Amino acid sequence: MNVLVINCGSSSLKYQLINSDSEEVLAKGLCERIGIDGSAIVHQPAGGEKTRMEVDMPNHTKAVRLVIEKLTDPQAGVIASLDKIDAVGHRIVHGGEKFATSVVLNDEVLSAIEQCNDLAPLHNPANLIGINSCREIMPNVPMVGVFDTAFHQTMPKKAYLYGLPLSYYEKYKVRRYGFHGTSHDFVSKRAAQILGKDIKDLKIIVCHLGNGASVSAVKYGESVDTSMGLTPLEGLIMGTRSGDIDPAIVTFIAEKEGISAEQVLDICNKKSGVLGLSGGVSSDFRDLGEAAAEGDEAAKTALETYAYRVAKYVGAYAAAMNGVDVIVFTAGVGENNGDARAKIGKYLGFLGTNIDPEKNKLRGEEVILSDADAKVVTMVIPTNEELAIARETVRLVK
Ligand code: ADP
Repeated sequence: MNVLVINCGSSSLKYQLINSDSEEVLAKGLCERIGIDGSAIVHQPAGGEKTRMEVDMPNHTKAVRLVIEKLTDPQAGVIASLDKIDAVGHRIVHGGEKFATSVVLNDEVLSAIEQCNDLAPLHNPANLIGINSCREIMPNVPMVGVFDTAFHQTMPKKAYLYGLPLSYYEKYKVRRYGFHGTSHDFVSKRAAQILGKDIKDLKIIVCHLGNGASVSAVKYGESVDTSMGLTPLEGLIMGTRSGDIDPAIVTFIAEKEGISAEQVLDICNKKSGVLGLSGGVSSDFRDLGEAAAEGDEAAKTALETYAYRVAKYVGAYAAAMNGVDVIVFTAGVGENNGDARAKIGKYLGFLGTNIDPEKNKLRGEEVILSDADAKVVTMVIPTNEELAIARETVRLVK
């Protein structure tokens, strides 16, 4: 089967066409600045050259049409016609409490997803626009929704409730949901596979360290806790997001700076994290690493503070599961940045694990970092959310 995987943001649309039998990526790309001046499509067929074409994209439907044109282009295309797309898998950010697994999309399901919009006002409406555009263009192709929150729906009440009046949970569903579920699910399963163990026998801590970052506790194959909350702002210090802060800071800063609480939250989302901590050096770990190497004290502090927060969560989740067998690093920083891993690793010796400096030089590959006799295995597993979405799509469509 050929599965088109779509990840739609408010002004962007990322896509991959995957052959689900060989699990090969046939083509991938990105439509950027949809609805804004200077929109463009970047397209790359497998083994072919990456091209960027500036083209007017007033809306997502136009973007989907362009993606289909690129995929079926007589010269650079990878399929003969639209008929060769057997199914579409959509990434959906928030499924609330309604969706604990992926679903086949139909009118009823779409209206249930719409009801989750107020939980993710920036993301879900964009996801729905992408779905509707695809349905318009491919009305007879089955479509599946894969939720970032679904994997974490197994969390027990003690993990997902906040210490707030219960009525806010009852009335508004204010609780921890967690995100990056597709990645935490994919990576924890792969860890068990690599180790030749049944996931039902393992306590795994997954550190998904990308621009957005979260840690999860996966006990016997189920998520029992995770660091992101009602929104993806909670938990780790991220590229531009603050992660955990005392909520009283929001009104304190608002008053001092003469801005609204909403503006402070915007700063917490877009100008904080390692970007903010480094005094504006960068949200990108490569830039921060370079600045730190050149002696920039704020960049050094940002990297150390980041690592300390990750390590604290790993310790907390080892307690939550009454032990840990495997710690996995994944996503941009987790897969590629040995310095960040080493800094985090310094705190984890008490658990009975280590990071071998030689093995830690590897980038973007599956590797066991700890010694063969370590009590806890520490490893790197590249995540592949698109492949996970394609697999889910095939599972539901078949
Ligand atoms: P997103 O959450 O946007 O998907 P990614 O998982 O792509 O983010 O992670 C982006 C982060 O990964 C950036 O901070 C970047 O510096 C870091 N990163 C990516 N590649 C490398 C690399 N080769 N070396 C060091 N850091 C890297």
